[in-house]
Amino acid sequence: MDTPAQTSSAPRGKYFIKTFGCQMNLHDSDRMASTSVDQGYSEAAEINEADLVIFNSCSIRDKSEQKAYSSMGLLRKDGKKNNPKLKIGFAGCVAQQDRKEVFDGAPHLDFVLGTDSLDQLPEVLYRVERGERRVMQVGFDPANDYSLETKVLPGKAAAYVNIMKGCDNFCSYCIVPFTRGREKSRRLEEIVQDVKRLVLGGVVEITLLGQNVNSFGKSLGGEAAGQTFPRLLRALQVMADEMDARGTTDPTGRSGRPRGLRRIRYTTSHPKDFDEEMIECHATLSRVVPHLHLPVQSGSPKVLKRMKRYVPIELYVSRLEELRRRVPGITITTDLIIGFPGETEADFAQTVELIERIRYDNLYAYTYSPRPGTHALKFGDTVPEDVKKARHARLLDVQANIQKEKNREQLGRVEEILCEGASPRDPLVASGRTLGMRVVNFVPPKDVSVAALDGKFLPVRITDATSFTLNGELELL
Ligand code: SAM
Ligand code: SF4
Repeated sequence: MDTPAQTSSAPRGKYFIKTFGCQMNLHDSDRMASTSVDQGYSEAAEINEADLVIFNSCSIRDKSEQKAYSSMGLLRKDGKKNNPKLKIGFAGCVAQQDRKEVFDGAPHLDFVLGTDSLDQLPEVLYRVERGERRVMQVGFDPANDYSLETKVLPGKAAAYVNIMKGCDNFCSYCIVPFTRGREKSRRLEEIVQDVKRLVLGGVVEITLLGQNVNSFGKSLGGEAAGQTFPRLLRALQVMADEMDARGTTDPTGRSGRPRGLRRIRYTTSHPKDFDEEMIECHATLSRVVPHLHLPVQSGSPKVLKRMKRYVPIELYVSRLEELRRRVPGITITTDLIIGFPGETEADFAQTVELIERIRYDNLYAYTYSPRPGTHALKFGDTVPEDVKKARHARLLDVQANIQKEKNREQLGRVEEILCEGASPRDPLVASGRTLGMRVVNFVPPKDVSVAALDGKFLPVRITDATSFTLNGELELL
């Protein structure tokens, strides 16, 4: 049997990872997928074909937590009876939060893997294969910084790159600081080398990931040590410019050389830190995409103070106005929490007023869900569920009208999209994103499969726009 330190090429069967939650979790799943491949597993098309199943859970709201638990329960009915080789793991934020309790009521579960222990998957699999039961790996790494090599599956054009982990903000509603621990950053120089390696391997778009990217480098000495987020963006731009200038990469894609780093995305930024320097980065760095996700959570100063996220609304608005002036056409998106404890009709009206003022290109609105251990628990859950739902629906109505108008402004434009494969709703329709991160669906020409377009930059003319979708036609191939 292989030891965990060895990379096994001997086929061990198939893996399937079911992911819940945010981009951070999607990235963690990519990482576990890549480790599984190193360990001799290949990807299963369906959960029932797999010999290794991992549920990567999310605990940001009670609903997401329940979803992860119930889907794990579904597998229990027949899973191991049909396949005695089957190993089942529960990973991610709920695993970190509930630890040993996850095993209670889940006797079929072989291992629990916390958010800071995902790279220990080989060791955990080894222990399970040796017959150990209920293997649990949930510790936090005590070091101030951390090191990592981004893993992507071969052939991928887009990659998530973790630049930091954890969060020290402790917004009063949020469980993340408890499930992902204290804020730590990778070194800027390491990230640049990591991205260079990805680009040489064919990656053209990266998304820099952190719960609060503007705090990048603080654990390493910040400005004094040359470790800040704007410096990282500039270093990546310089690295990509140099690769193109030296001919290491070929943006035309015709020579067979890697196409170079074309798009730098990042998420998530915090309104308190989105300052002049960040606006300058957007205005001057050509590879940073014209998209900003800046979660505001509420338009009421009173609610923002209770969320421990207070930024004067006028400052927030004026920075976004300045950004739009410097980067015309930039898409701006946000997150909102509806029905936070103590939210009155007047507070909610301020949120609606804010979205009408900013006119976001898209937004994600969630009804408040009390989370264990968070500061906001002491306020109670005072807004009744039916009121939360009604406000949520009213807000989405307002936003749907704004989005319809904004999407209709796209009609007739030809946008360069990076194709991401099939649309989740129809395998025969291709889907991709514009530079501003708008999703566009289009039908490939006859004789061209959706798979053949995956990872390609394509000119698409927008021919149809509703509140929620843009459809287009391929201009030429
Ligand atoms: N770090 C990011 C930030 O500061 O905005 C994102 C954090 S979280 C993964 C994504 C979104 O979930 C948040 O922006 C917030 O809108 C929502 N969220 C977090 N905790 C919540 C809760 N207890 N109830 C409802 N929504 C919540
Ligand atoms: Fe949660 Fe606030 Fe940290 Fe975002 S910034 S992860 S909302 S504590």
